[in-house]
Amino acid sequence: MFVESIFVDATKHLSALLDPTSRIWGLYLISSVVLAFVGYGHLKRDGHLTKAGGEQPGFLSYLFDKDIWLHASTRQDMLYFLANGLIFYGLISQFLVGSFGLSILFYSSLAGTFGGLDEPIISSGWSLLIYSVAVLMAIDFGVYVTHLAQHKIPLLWQFHQVHHSAERLTPLTLFRMHPVDLAVTAFVVTLLSAAAYAGVFYLSGEPPRALTVLGLNVFLFAFNLLGYNLRHSQIWLDYPAWLSRVLISPAQHQIHHSADPKHFDRNLGLVFSIWDQLYGTHYRAKSYEPLTFG
Ligand SMILES: [Zn+2]
Ligand SMILES: [Zn+2]
Repeated sequence: MFVESIFVDATKHLSALLDPTSRIWGLYLISSVVLAFVGYGHLKRDGHLTKAGGEQPGFLSYLFDKDIWLHASTRQDMLYFLANGLIFYGLISQFLVGSFGLSILFYSSLAGTFGGLDEPIISSGWSLLIYSVAVLMAIDFGVYVTHLAQHKIPLLWQFHQVHHSAERLTPLTLFRMHPVDLAVTAFVVTLLSAAAYAGVFYLSGEPPRALTVLGLNVFLFAFNLLGYNLRHSQIWLDYPAWLSRVLISPAQHQIHHSADPKHFDRNLGLVFSIWDQLYGTHYRAKSYEPLTFG
């Protein structure tokens, strides 16, 4: 049974291209290519792609730049993807605390402390939407605070620096993570999402459900389609200022990987940029900034 669970979870991870709950699902990659074309067009128009001889690369040679895809850093990303399939998603994830048990614990604590509600505060009709947003915010805040700790606490940085050691960014850099780094994030995210579940359960009086598309929270699904995979790429795509005040753009995460000290510890968020703005770690470039990674 245990070995079977390892096999099932490892296989799910390694089938990421076919899995809508994975951030490198095929459709998310296709939408990223479409948005990459937009980013490429802007860079070309503004002359940022012009080489010494005055030439500009075509879209496909820019997208599949040999210096990126054949680089040792990209080969390492691939090894992390494969190794984490077995080590983290296969083995370690079997030992991580489950969110269901925690949810029941939190719910019992709420009911024990405040007593049962005579009337639900959240009606059935609103519960679906409120829980969908609440769990998204809980996951996102969980990722933000963990990421902040991974940058500020030297012991955690030892593990997190693996992600920042990438000298070239490709969608696979997402998986360039030390298993301990992944486990710390998973623990905090599970804790906070269980709290969101318990909170909405208590206030609505019924087990909440989230709006999902193909098994993924509808808002995360939409966010992944907004060029999620360009955040680990060379393609600069920044959102308009008003949208950047709400969401982290691909360019903003590239800045997070920048080797320039003025960019250190900036843009730690996953989906929303509000946490970065609240805690003073937000950085938005006014225009394109050439970056070196690693
Ligand atoms: Zn980081
Ligand atoms: Zn990254």
